[in-house]
Amino acid sequence: MEIKADVCNGCGQCVIVCPVQAIKMVQKKAFIDKDLCVECSVCYRSADCPVNAIRMKKLKWPREIRIPFSNVITTHKITGIAGRGTEEMKTNDVTNRYHFGEFGVSIELGRPGLGTRLGNIELFTTKFAEIGVIYEEKSPVTALIIDGKGHINEEIKNERVLSAIIEFKIPTEKLARILKVIREIENEIDTVFSVGIVSRIEENNTDEIINQLSQLGFDVRPNAKINIGLGKP
Ligand code: SF4
Ligand code: SF4
Repeated sequence: MEIKADVCNGCGQCVIVCPVQAIKMVQKKAFIDKDLCVECSVCYRSADCPVNAIRMKKLKWPREIRIPFSNVITTHKITGIAGRGTEEMKTNDVTNRYHFGEFGVSIELGRPGLGTRLGNIELFTTKFAEIGVIYEEKSPVTALIIDGKGHINEEIKNERVLSAIIEFKIPTEKLARILKVIREIENEIDTVFSVGIVSRIEENNTDEIINQLSQLGFDVRPNAKINIGLGKP
């Protein structure tokens, strides 16, 4: 994204809408900090620039990788889907992605206001490689992992994006090890992240995830959410 300084009238509209505070006013002209900008195109689409000073530039590799992880209306070239993750994990009753004896796990790195470097993904994936997890094939993050040791391409590590979602499944007995690793990374990482875990309710109405999290010392307060909609055939 770029702003034509000779056209900008300094109204400040674009500064307000940028989700990562990458636009600053310098001498009454809007200026984009290229390092902070995640290429989400919110300024282009929502600032309603009165003089049409905001322009979308064609990006080159590796900067172009910022777009599918930041711009919600862009389709990922490799996975063919829009957005930073796959279909919501909470539709598992329809998709049947996670079976009995398995947990689905998602880790969302970065949020509006902070973002994340793609290199943060490797903090998790190199450690998960030692434990053994099965990554979701259609996840844009899975497409970035280049080997069985969880490494990602060196060239893209410094690229900054709005957020990236690591999605995988594990046998239920591996949960404790995964959570231990996540807690260790909490002290190293420079952005926020949230963890989602999916489990199935057993036929006798017990839920393995609640048992395990309670045993691991977590204060579990389940909430129910019911999805009503059209399932896949
Ligand atoms: S919205 Fe347009 S005119 Fe206003 S500060 Fe941003 S670039 Fe300049
Ligand atoms: S493309 Fe997004 S991150 Fe970059 S300046 Fe515009 S609103 Fe900010």
